Amino acid sequence: MTVEWAIDKYPQIVRAETNVTEAIATLSQTQAGCILVVESEKLVGIFTARDAIELAVSTANWQELSLARVISPNPIALKVTELPNISVLMDLMQHQQLKYLPIVTVDYRVYGLVSLKSIAEAWQKSAVASKQELEIVKQELNECKNLEAELQANQQALSINQERLDSIFDSIEDVVWSVDPHKFQLLYLNAATEQIYGRTISEFLGNFNLRREVIVLEDRQRVREANKALYSIGSQDIEYRIWRPNGEMRWVRDRARLILDNLGNTIRIDGIVTDITERKQAQQQLEYDAFHDGLTGLASRRLLMERLERAIDRSQLQPARGFALLFLDLDGFKVVNDSLGHLVGDRLLIEVAHRLQKYERENFIIARHGGDEFAILLEELADLKEAIAVAGQIQQILKPPLILNEREVYVSASIGIALGDRANLYASDGRATNLLRDADTAMYYAKSRGKGGYEVFTPSMHTEILQRLELEHDLRLAIEREEFVLYYQPIICLATQRLWGFEALVRWQHPWQGLISPDKFIPLAEETGLSVAIDRWVLRTACCQLRSWQEQLPTTTLKVSVNLSGNQFFQPDLIEVFDRVLGETGLKGSCLKLEITESVMIDNSPTTSVVLEQLRSRGVQLCLDDFGTGYSSLSYLHSLPFNLLKIDRSFIERLGTEGEKGEIVKAIVALGSNLGMDTIAEGIETKEQLMQLKSLNCAYGQGFWFAKPMNSRAAIGFVGDWNAQNIKN
Ligand code: C2E
Ligand code: CA
Ligand code: CA
Repeated sequence: MTVEWAIDKYPQIVRAETNVTEAIATLSQTQAGCILVVESEKLVGIFTARDAIELAVSTANWQELSLARVISPNPIALKVTELPNISVLMDLMQHQQLKYLPIVTVDYRVYGLVSLKSIAEAWQKSAVASKQELEIVKQELNECKNLEAELQANQQALSINQERLDSIFDSIEDVVWSVDPHKFQLLYLNAATEQIYGRTISEFLGNFNLRREVIVLEDRQRVREANKALYSIGSQDIEYRIWRPNGEMRWVRDRARLILDNLGNTIRIDGIVTDITERKQAQQQLEYDAFHDGLTGLASRRLLMERLERAIDRSQLQPARGFALLFLDLDGFKVVNDSLGHLVGDRLLIEVAHRLQKYERENFIIARHGGDEFAILLEELADLKEAIAVAGQIQQILKPPLILNEREVYVSASIGIALGDRANLYASDGRATNLLRDADTAMYYAKSRGKGGYEVFTPSMHTEILQRLELEHDLRLAIEREEFVLYYQPIICLATQRLWGFEALVRWQHPWQGLISPDKFIPLAEETGLSVAIDRWVLRTACCQLRSWQEQLPTTTLKVSVNLSGNQFFQPDLIEVFDRVLGETGLKGSCLKLEITESVMIDNSPTTSVVLEQLRSRGVQLCLDDFGTGYSSLSYLHSLPFNLLKIDRSFIERLGTEGEKGEIVKAIVALGSNLGMDTIAEGIETKEQLMQLKSLNCAYGQGFWFAKPMNSRAAIGFVGDWNAQNIKN
C-alpha cells in the first residue's frame, strides 16, 4: 500500500492571523482533529484539538490570541517528492509521537495531511495490515475518536464563552482554582475538588479558611512562604500534604500564576492542584530501596557512604567526637554457599544481620556492603578503644552456632577497623571511600592472620597486601608452569613398625625464592580457588609416582595419601577427575588415601555423603585430617564413611611433657574405635610421644621422629632402609 492512499488531500487550512476562537470553530468542522496553519500559502504550523484544550487550561485570554502566537513553529512535514513507504512512515510517526503529519510541496505549500486516523482507514481499506500493526492503529484510532468526542463535548463551550470551559475543567482530574487577589475569595473550583480533597465545592466556597486548614500542620509554613513568593515571582510550584475528612493523607502539587491585565495589574490568581500521592509513594519506596539492602533490611552501601561523609564533616567541626568504621567479612562463607546452597547462604546472611541488628545503637549504623561483607559506622565514640571493644563484642555475638537446615553452623567474622581521624589525611573528595578502603585492608589483613580476628588499620598493611597480591599473581603463573614438587613423608604402623606408605605434601619451587612451604601459599590458594588446580596436579603426580614405585618394587604394598582442599572437594566433577586419573595412571583406588580437613565437613549435607560414598566405592580410604581443631559436630561423625581420624599435631605436641596424660588423644582413639575408625597421629617428634601413642593404641604415626618429608628419590631410598632395618630388628 502506498502512502498516497492515506493522504487527506483536502485538509482544513487557516491563516496564521486567525484568532483562536475562530480556529476552534473551524477545528470542530473537520473530521481530522487538526488544522494546518499557513502564512503566504506556506505551511507554518498545525493546531490540534489537544492544543486547544491545553491552551484553554493554561493561558489567560486565550480567545483573543492569534494562531501565530500559539502554534509551535516549524512543524515536522514531509515533502511529497520524498514520501517513504507506509511502514517507514508509521515508524516515523510513532517514534516522534506524531498524530498528524502534513505533506507539502517542495516550496512548502500544503499538499495534504496524513494522520494516524487516515492511515488506519487506508490500512483498513487495503486490508493488508498485519494483526499487530492493526492493533496499534486501532488503539491510535480509538484515541483519535476519544479526542474527537472530547472536542465535540466541549465544542460549544470553547466557541461561545469562557463559562462553558467548566465542562472541560470538570472533565480533568486536577483541581483548577481561581482566587481574587485582593479579597482572597475563591472565585472558582472545578469538580475534581471532591476527588482530591474529599470535600464539596460549596464547603470551600463557604469557608474562606478551609483551603489552608486542610494542609498538614508541618507543611503550612512552607506553603505560606511559597504564597508570598508568588507575588514577587509571579508563579509558584509547591508540593505539600493535605488531610481528607476521613483521616487519609494525600500529597498534592499546587501550581499557581498571577493573571495580569493589559496594564500589568493582577486581576486573578489561577492554579492547578494535582494529586501526586502515588508518585510520592513510588518515590519513597525507591528511596527506601536505594538506602536498604533487599536481603537483610540493613542499611545499604549508599546510605553508609552518605553517613560516613556526614560523620567526617562533623568530626572536622568537632574533633573531640571521634568515629570509627568497622569492616566485617564472614569467614568461610563460600564453603557454606558451595556446600549448602545459595538459599542457605542467604539465610545465614539474614541471621547474621539479625544478630548485628541487636547491637544497633543510636549512633551506630549497620550496613551490608555486599556479599558477605558488612560495615558498621560507630559515631560519638568517647575513646577509640571503644571501637576495638565493639569489634570484640561482635565476634562474641556471632559465636553461638546458627541452626540452618536443622544443623548447627558456626560463623565468625574477620574485622578491620579504620579510625575516623585518618579521614583528615585524604583529599577531601575521596575521604569516605579511602576510609572504607583502609577498613577493608585491615579486614583483609586480619583474615590473612586467621579467622575471627580484628586489626586496626596501619599504613604498612598496604604493603603487605600488595605482597599478597603479588604472591597470588606468581601462584597463577606457577600453576601454568607447573612449578611444584611433591615431598613424601612416611606413615608407620605403630604396632608392627611396618611402613604403610607416604603422605604427599606439595612444595612450590619458586624460580628465585627457592622451595616455598605450603603453609605460605595453600591458604591463599584456597581463598582464591587456585587450590583446585594445585590439588589436581598433586593427585595426578602422586598417583604416577606410586605407580612407578610399584613397577620398581613389584611386591610392595605401599600406599599414598593426598590432601584435598575444600574447594576441590566441592568441585562437581571431582569423581570424574578421580576416575580419569586412576584410569590414566592404572593405579588401584585402594592404594590411595584422601585427607580432608575436618573444617570442610561443616555439614553432613546429602551431597557430602554421596561424594564420600562414591570415593569409598572405588576403594579409596578417607581420612579426617586435623581432627579436633574444627568445629565439626560429633553427632554426625558416625554417618560419614571415614576410615581414619588424623589427630591434629597440636594434641601430639603436648604428649611427653610433664603432667600430660594424653586424655584428649585417648578420647579420640576411643571415639575412633567406637565408630570403627583407625586413628593416626601426626607430628611425632620424640620417643616419649611415640611410646605414649603406642600405649594409647593409636594405629598409625607420622612425624620428624621417623622422617621429615623428602623428595621422591629420597623416599624410595627410605623404603629400602626402613625394610632392611625392620628385618634386622
Ligand atoms: P597437613 O596436612 O597437616 O600436613 C602435615 C604437615 O605437618 C606437613 O607440613 C608436614 O611437613 C608437617 N609435619 C609432619 N611431621 C611433623 C613433625 O614431626 N613436626 C612438625 N612440626 N611438623 C610436621 P607441610 O608439608 O608444610 O604442609 C602444611 C600443610 O599444607 C598441610 O598440613 C596441608 O594442610 C597443606 N598441604 C600440603 N600439601 C598439600 C596439598 O597437596 N594439597 C592441599 N590441599 N594441601 C596441602
Ligand atoms: Ca594432611
Ligand atoms: Ca594436619
